[in-house]
Amino acid sequence: MEALLAQLKQEHGIALQRHVPLAEHTTFRIGGNAAYWAEIVDEEMLRILVQSCTRAGRPFFVLGRGSNVLAADTGYDGLILHIGDGFSEVKTDGCSLTCQAGASLARVSGIAAQAGLSGMEGLSGIPGTIGGALFMNAGAYGYEMCDIVTSCRYMDADGNVYTAEKEALSLSYRHSRFMEEPGIILSVTVELHPGEPQQIADEMSALLARRSEKQPLNFPSAGSTFKRPAGSYASLLIDQCGLRGRRAGGAQVSEKHAGFVVNTGGATCADVLALCQTVQQEVREKTGYVLELEPVLLGVEPE
Ligand SMILES: Cc1cc2nc3c(=O)[nH]c(=O)nc-3n(C[C@H](O)[C@H](O)[C@H](O)COP(=O)(O)OP(=O)(O)OC[C@H]3O[C@@H](n4cnc5c(N)ncnc54)[C@H](O)[C@@H]3O)c2cc1C
Repeated sequence: MEALLAQLKQEHGIALQRHVPLAEHTTFRIGGNAAYWAEIVDEEMLRILVQSCTRAGRPFFVLGRGSNVLAADTGYDGLILHIGDGFSEVKTDGCSLTCQAGASLARVSGIAAQAGLSGMEGLSGIPGTIGGALFMNAGAYGYEMCDIVTSCRYMDADGNVYTAEKEALSLSYRHSRFMEEPGIILSVTVELHPGEPQQIADEMSALLARRSEKQPLNFPSAGSTFKRPAGSYASLLIDQCGLRGRRAGGAQVSEKHAGFVVNTGGATCADVLALCQTVQQEVREKTGYVLELEPVLLGVEPE
């Protein structure tokens, strides 16, 4: 790795950061250090890093705002490609917005609202990037990424860039093709429809208020901890099993919303996983429903 670092610096002027605490870059505030970290500013930088890792057989992980990631206490022994504010240009063309992957949903929704474009109101309170939102097919309050995306550009592990139309993205509930066929989302194009700016802003404010009324936003978390099982709701099942408030170390099933596991202070990844296992086991035994984790695990060794 030292030779690779020296080569990146000498040939491309890219200096990687080292030992970066993942707890500072995930909304759960959990995780040890990432061995290497790159703040992505353009596609060329991304291509060089991805190709270098692939050739050297070194692992990399794409991180947006870290709002749907649970990082291991031991950290990640690879390179984090952080796609955030440095890669977040948004271009408007009629009713269409083309956004670099690091643009936050809050910012993109704000730009849309100002331009009198409707269709993202319910997505504005989701604390992620548009790249992360496409990866997860994020959604809330009847709004979902799959309803507005028309295409995206992405890069494969060899640095090749492709455009994929929506039909090729296999978007369904909290699922995209990138979960099976790795690809780094570079930009996302969404198609919205004309609306009245004040009405759009009012709808956004109302949905943001609903969010803070229902969700435990005063504690770090990764949002909903479990996917919605077909035919029921995770929070309802967890409540029915009397698990609201259940703890493991610093992790707790939120008292405010049973669908959230929160970090009440000092929770470790091991605490969260132990609590999730208890919840999954009790819900399965008592109701027959299987709850699947929604957050993506980073650096966690499979059991
Ligand atoms: C308080 C709270 C409320 C939430 N509410 C909602 C909600 O209402 N609805 C909902 O759907 N989600 C919700 N979430 C979850 C989360 O915000 C979304 O899933 C969001 O879209 C994740 O975006 P991110 O940039 O943070 O991605 P990250 O958490 O950084 O990454 C998530 C996954 O996406 C991948 N990824 C990120 N960027 C890229 C990219 N450019 N290319 C390829 N892969 C990429 C990562 O590798 C990882 O596998 C909530 C989370 C919190 C903390």
